[in-house]
Amino acid sequence: MNQLSDSANHVMIVDDDPSVRMMMSSVLDSLGVSFDEAEDGMQALLLLENVIPDLLLLDVSMPGMDGFEVCTHLKRTPGISEIPILMMTGLDDVLSIQRAYDLGVTDFITKPVPWSLIGYRISFLLQATKSFANLKKNEKRLAHAQLLAGMGSWEWELQSDKMWFSDEVQHIFHFDPHGFDSSFQTFINSVHPVDRKLVMDTTSQAIASGSSYSIDHQLLLSDGKSCFVHTEAAVIFDQNGVPIRLEGSIQDITERKATESQIRQLAFFDTLTGLPNRALFLDHLKRIHSRSLTDNKRFAMLFIDIDGFKSINDTLGHLSGDCLLQQLALRLKESLRSDDFASAGMIARLGGDEFVVIIEHLKNSEDVATIAQRIIGNIRRPVLLETTEVVVTASIGISIFPDDSPDTDTLIKHADIAMYSAKENGKNAFQYFNPSMHESATLVLELEKELKMAIMNNEFSMYYQPQVDLTSKRIVGFEALIRWNNPKIGSVSPEKFIPIAEKNNLICDIDRWVIVDVCRQIGVWQATGMPPGIQIAINLSGKSITRNDLASFIRQEINTHNIAPRTLQIEITEGVLMLDIAASSATLLELKQIGISLAIDDFGTGYSSLQYLQSMPVDTLKIDRSFVADISDINEKAPVISAIIALARSLELDVVAEGIENEIQKGFLTVHGCQKGQGYLFSRPVPAGDVHALFGQSYD
Ligand code: C2E
Ligand code: MG
Ligand code: MG
Repeated sequence: MNQLSDSANHVMIVDDDPSVRMMMSSVLDSLGVSFDEAEDGMQALLLLENVIPDLLLLDVSMPGMDGFEVCTHLKRTPGISEIPILMMTGLDDVLSIQRAYDLGVTDFITKPVPWSLIGYRISFLLQATKSFANLKKNEKRLAHAQLLAGMGSWEWELQSDKMWFSDEVQHIFHFDPHGFDSSFQTFINSVHPVDRKLVMDTTSQAIASGSSYSIDHQLLLSDGKSCFVHTEAAVIFDQNGVPIRLEGSIQDITERKATESQIRQLAFFDTLTGLPNRALFLDHLKRIHSRSLTDNKRFAMLFIDIDGFKSINDTLGHLSGDCLLQQLALRLKESLRSDDFASAGMIARLGGDEFVVIIEHLKNSEDVATIAQRIIGNIRRPVLLETTEVVVTASIGISIFPDDSPDTDTLIKHADIAMYSAKENGKNAFQYFNPSMHESATLVLELEKELKMAIMNNEFSMYYQPQVDLTSKRIVGFEALIRWNNPKIGSVSPEKFIPIAEKNNLICDIDRWVIVDVCRQIGVWQATGMPPGIQIAINLSGKSITRNDLASFIRQEINTHNIAPRTLQIEITEGVLMLDIAASSATLLELKQIGISLAIDDFGTGYSSLQYLQSMPVDTLKIDRSFVADISDINEKAPVISAIIALARSLELDVVAEGIENEIQKGFLTVHGCQKGQGYLFSRPVPAGDVHALFGQSYD
């Protein structure tokens, strides 16, 4: 007979008959199996305290403690209760056989022992034992793995409506394993009410169709909390194809769901305001678009940009900027709540200070105006940022589906173009898209392209507009104004191209070109007899002022052309003072030290406060020409102008009025004590070559 491959097998022979023990020993020897021998039950139990065999060969009738008693004792004792037992009974002793089985004996042989077969019998038993042990081990491993995965299995016998759950399922469900009445209804009671119908429908469909299913649903736990589970189940049939049972697995996926929703939150929502972000906006837009197509409905897209946000972010810091955006987001939500005209599709933040609103189910496009107006009104209300109160406004561009475009990309572009148009036309307003805006947007692109090459191609030139002393009527200075003549586009007004240059940072190069050209020109005039006291003003953008090498650049140009610094005046707009106070005031002080004077341009249109005027080295205020334009014989009072002149006087500043076009304006300004004026009444800006002839001229 072949030896058993695993030498680790160990058997215990318990028999009072020495001949049986001897015969058995030689059989086991031939199998290569080690063994112990016991003469009776008592001795066997003593041995079992030290050795746990893989198989017990147990005689039934022994003096003292018989086989049954040994068996009973074994089954009750933890650690040895699982040892397989081969009982040796008397021939045809049916009662003993029955009793042995009742006691949980593994197998039996009858005496006299069939020696020729017993070896095989033992081998089979040892092998089966091993398989059984492996099975047990695997079951344990599976249970452990399921525990780690928060997963368990269940079965549902359809006929008897009995459900069986593995320990882990009971753990997931927070069931008391003993108190669990395992019917389908009990299971359903544990399913969260919102998902009960789903679970019942899915289950009955699976039984009806015989197909397996997998669903995610929630459970309502005994502590009132809920958890998410993933269930997979298959239908088992009898040989006639009748469904008899459902077998399934169930896994706790609460954590996964939480992570998923966190990821979703991060991927689709703006962390600052909690509003949907661009990705979610585009996703929703697609759906709204197809819905509107099918239902033949219109929807509006509102592009909202906050005016002046950048300067608040730059002056008060990013934290304040963030806080402002959060509050504005709330105001947007508020503006769309309870709407009587249409239902709001969504609000999203596209990034920076750009928001978008979609309004669905539009009855007529005029209704959007009401909503846009409400948004503008809500945004304009003062916002408290810690201790500072700020006021910002919104510019809104509106495009309507399908009127302005049947596709979403173009709708977005058109709303954006309309928003820019609203900004260009003075901000704090909304504008519907119209096709002419599109042309101007295309023109902007063209300008941008050409502007990049303008310096290199020598397309700029400087014009000079006289500034006149309103008392002596003599020319006391000039403002240098840039002109751009492009061979393709023609001449372009600085009011058009300067804002474009500011947006794409070309402005610093342009400003430098102006500084170089004007300094060179002053050098030429000084050499050919420029009267002393004439001042030439140049306009510089805020972007140039905040660059810390501006002063040294100007100093270098002054030295190169050997010009007197006091001949030069720098004009900056009010907004620049607010932009970056630290950076601009350092530059402005340095310029002052060089001997260059400073004028605030377009005064009265921006945010200037007395505080800034007092803390900056300002020499001159230039009254914006929109105020001058207000002066007419029917409007004899121009309160803003009077106030600016009074303010300038109290701060001992020069005042220059821009855009004087007629005698009425000149007269009014002279009477109110404005020292200097500039405008078409005296002269339009002239090319550099014509300036020399103007020196010493007076305008009576
Ligand atoms: P600004 O500095 O306020 O210049 C005055 C503008 O008013 C000039 O427009 C001038 O031609 C115009 N103007 C003068 N008198 C009258 C008048 O009586 N009536 C009317 N209606 N307008 C008058 P321009 O030359 O088109 O310049 C526009 C703006 O472009 C300037 O406003 C300034 O902000 C900017 N700019 C001009 N040249 C430069 C430059 O070299 N560098 C920079 N950074 N900006 C410049
Ligand atoms: Mg100016
Ligand atoms: Mg001006």
